[in-house]
Amino acid sequence: MRDQIVAECLPRVEKLRALSRAPGLAVVLDGHDPASEIYVRNKVKLCEDLGIRSETHTPAESATTEEIVALVESLNRRADIDGILVQMPLPKHVDAKRVLLAIAPDKDVDGLHPLNLGNLMTGRPGPRPCTPAGVMNLLKRYEIPISGKNAVVVGRSDLVGKPMAFLLLHENATVTMCHSKTSDLASVCARADILVAAIGRPAFVTADFIKPGATVIDVGMNRLESGARAEAIFGGPTKRTLVGDVHPIDVVEKAGAYTPVPGGVGLLTVAWLMVNTIESAQRRLNGCSA
Ligand code: NAP
Repeated sequence: MRDQIVAECLPRVEKLRALSRAPGLAVVLDGHDPASEIYVRNKVKLCEDLGIRSETHTPAESATTEEIVALVESLNRRADIDGILVQMPLPKHVDAKRVLLAIAPDKDVDGLHPLNLGNLMTGRPGPRPCTPAGVMNLLKRYEIPISGKNAVVVGRSDLVGKPMAFLLLHENATVTMCHSKTSDLASVCARADILVAAIGRPAFVTADFIKPGATVIDVGMNRLESGARAEAIFGGPTKRTLVGDVHPIDVVEKAGAYTPVPGGVGLLTVAWLMVNTIESAQRRLNGCSA
């Protein structure tokens, strides 16, 4: 499905090049988070494959909030940049909310500016956060029924959980949002026809959370530090160190459909960034803001 999305992007990029210029994406990578470095490399590589012009800005780790905001503002002013992505998480001393607020809403390809989150909440057009938008696209392409179904989203981050819940709601699912204070989480999850786990805890969602036949979307990406933990999760010796929020063996046994980790939601997220960048370039070319 990722390949399909990418194939659909190619003619759109070519059309933009023919009309004016290739779309331009600026990525701000602050700090040395190894996972973020991998994500950014994947994003830059897919841009290259598609002919989207990308540039990566790596401010010094000591850069202050003001310096990152100034960098974002300089990118806002550039006519050749259609999309700005600030890779999260930012170092602890940087105020991420202020940085996100500084991104021009019409260049906000991650859809995390409060204006675009408001557009999402009220069903107005605008860029949607890449991970939940990719998940919705996946559900639609696989013709998973959403309307009238019980959807449970575990995790309430601005990045994944909240936008995911609103997108499912707009498609007429009955949505329950869960978090670390939810009582009896397993029974709430076990009512879900569509269960989305965006928690950040390895293999946390086990068989008792999953209704037989449910569609299970695993957003989590967790690196296991101990071999013993990996063996316990995968049921024997393994070289695997990456695991989602859903137990990888239990989900195969109980779900009707599920996304694996790796090779699932992560791929879609990167593909959706391309879609958002192209759409931002199209909107800017047509002279309308988000
Ligand atoms: P986050 O900001 O840390 O939010 C985690 C959420 O999970 C919080 O709402 C938290 O609840 C909830 N939570 C934590 N422990 C819980 C528990 N024991 N029971 C129920 N809820 C619990 O994380 P995030 O940014 O949303 O990311 C979540 C996961 O998705 C991470 O593994 C991240 O790496 C991954 N991710 C993957 C992609 C991708 O492309 N595949 C993209 C983004 C994120 P409280 O609010 O109550 O604290």
